[in-house]
Amino acid sequence: MSTNRDTTTEEAASRVLVLNSGSSSVKYQLLDMRDRSRLATGLVERIGESSSRLVHTPQDGEPRERTGRIADHDQALKAAAEELAADGLGLDSPELVAIGHRVVHGGLKFSEPTVITDEVLKEIERLVPVAPLHNPANITGIRTAQALRPDLPQVAVFDTAFHRSMPEHAARYAIDVETADAHRIRRYGFHGTSHAYVSRRAAELLGRPVEELNLIVLHLGNGASASAVAGGKCVDTSMGLTPLEGLVMGTRSGDIDPAVTFHLKRVAGMSADEIDALLNQRSGLVGLCGDNDMREIRRRVDEGDERAALAFAVYIHRLKKYIGAYAAVLGRVDAVVFTAGVGENSAPVREAAVAGLEGFGLAVDPGRNAVRSGEPRLISPGGARVAVAVVPTDEELEIARQTFALAHN
Ligand code: AMP
Repeated sequence: MSTNRDTTTEEAASRVLVLNSGSSSVKYQLLDMRDRSRLATGLVERIGESSSRLVHTPQDGEPRERTGRIADHDQALKAAAEELAADGLGLDSPELVAIGHRVVHGGLKFSEPTVITDEVLKEIERLVPVAPLHNPANITGIRTAQALRPDLPQVAVFDTAFHRSMPEHAARYAIDVETADAHRIRRYGFHGTSHAYVSRRAAELLGRPVEELNLIVLHLGNGASASAVAGGKCVDTSMGLTPLEGLVMGTRSGDIDPAVTFHLKRVAGMSADEIDALLNQRSGLVGLCGDNDMREIRRRVDEGDERAALAFAVYIHRLKKYIGAYAAVLGRVDAVVFTAGVGENSAPVREAAVAGLEGFGLAVDPGRNAVRSGEPRLISPGGARVAVAVVPTDEELEIARQTFALAHN
């Protein structure tokens, strides 16, 4: 993998490219793992449409934009590579150690980041039926990157991996075991890279080994999930077979009586695809009030908008139910940790989520909660029995860290 490098360069080589390939987008970051700095970040969106757009942001420069059709992932990655080369960061550089890929579904096989071989790629393909929206795009991203740098290690970092430690009683749905196993129906969980990173950072913030801690991690972004983490290992999480289960999200319903789906089919005559689109794209906050951005919802609530107030109340009620459930799963809670777009930025959500939970030892200090910062911080009052914390997530850094560690082994 490093035949053309001289020894000095090999020792110094420290760059990792992180790729997050969606069905019509690619996000990329080039990191230098010596100081974990971001040398460049970028996003290619609307791939395959005439209105494709690439926005590339170098570390110390202004964002540059390209518009016009980018036909496929191959062209997208080539365009990104050209932008990187223009900054002196070409992907042909011997400084590049490995490419790390976010892969959404790792099924039962993958509980660790994994160097991608033909066999690994085949297994990711075998999981397409359980992750039809995500894994095909991830596979395309991997193939494209392999074609660009066949000599480099490519590493898959799975969203499901952190949750493989869930005990069987948390991972099983209470349905016929043969049917479940024949179709690989079970709770896999997602956002695992974020839950793992945030758990570790929360332990650092608390100044205690993660092995000693029981944490409830609330990843509240446009997608949202909660995890119960005992001693650094996930023991339960709110997303299931797919990222639809659990909390109320920007556009997804979260938990719902499964009979709603047969009802929609039998009574409203909707097809499986129509119900899928309803629950994944037109539900959650958007379904309840027409907006999925928490800033806009809070603005409307403050103006007395009743639908926005209802959406906020449903969102918070579900969050509280999960905090209570995971307190019971863990038995003892050391900290509740908020992360992702809403969790990091919305003081009203954090305040409302723990309001009335004093019986669980939970409270936020209004002054601390109001502070805006990109740093991990405590927002519970001094001397609180259970810490409440805000820990910004960084999935790309975590993917780069895991990729770098594996590529160096
Ligand atoms: P993510 O998926 O983690 O990028 O989170 C995106 C979501 O974070 C957006 O849809 C907003 O609802 C929310 N968000 C971002 N910034 C803020 C903010 N300043 N206040 C409240 N919510 C925010």
